Amino acid sequence: MHARRFRRALLAWFRRHGRDLPWRRTRDPYHVAVSEFMLQQTQVSRVEGYYIRFLRRFPSLDHLAAARPSAVREAWAGLGYYRRAANLHALARVVRSEHDGVIPRDPAVLRQLPGIGPYTAGAIATFAFEQSTPAVDTNVERVIRRAFHPRLGRGAQASARIWRTAAALVPGRGSSAWAFNQAIMELGALICTAREARCAECPVARSCSTGKVAMRRRGRVPPLRARGARARR
Ligand code: SF4
Repeated sequence: MHARRFRRALLAWFRRHGRDLPWRRTRDPYHVAVSEFMLQQTQVSRVEGYYIRFLRRFPSLDHLAAARPSAVREAWAGLGYYRRAANLHALARVVRSEHDGVIPRDPAVLRQLPGIGPYTAGAIATFAFEQSTPAVDTNVERVIRRAFHPRLGRGAQASARIWRTAAALVPGRGSSAWAFNQAIMELGALICTAREARCAECPVARSCSTGKVAMRRRGRVPPLRARGARARR
């Protein structure tokens, strides 16, 4: 696994091309949690306006915990999947009553909260607390599969393998871990999409299994045997 080269190329690309999104300008755990609940099943472009309006209406976890369910539902209206709003509201109340109003930083503890699965626990841990922990959503899984496990099957074992690879890739330093997790998601959203893998313009193509095959077909990198011969000289 070309982890170091992959990381370096990805981070350099993200510094230049990562989108300036409101939840990327904060490390406030409540704000990060709101963004992560809204982004489940919903595109970034739809979430931005809702995120800003929701936080104007419920600027802190205490405000949200004290709100009536109808008010939370009203603020979520139009975004869909209302179960997320109910879970977020329940989370605010549990955090207020059981965690002194402080969102926990440990992914294992986060997973005990309403509406939080492995991905969201990892996302809050890394995006709010800059922890070196993986956060594998569908975009990240797609990138890791294509880059490191192009023939991996489906199921629980395959999923565990993807998470292990993600954990091995995340840098140890907090701010770099934050940037890496944002970057790999961004790559899956903008370049390595479900519809097409745009390998010709991908920053990690030279350390990606799928990308190397695509580039070889286009004559962009020498075939493996020639590269091996050159290395032996
Ligand atoms: S090189 Fe292609 S397959 Fe690999 S991560 Fe980039 S777009 Fe995806």
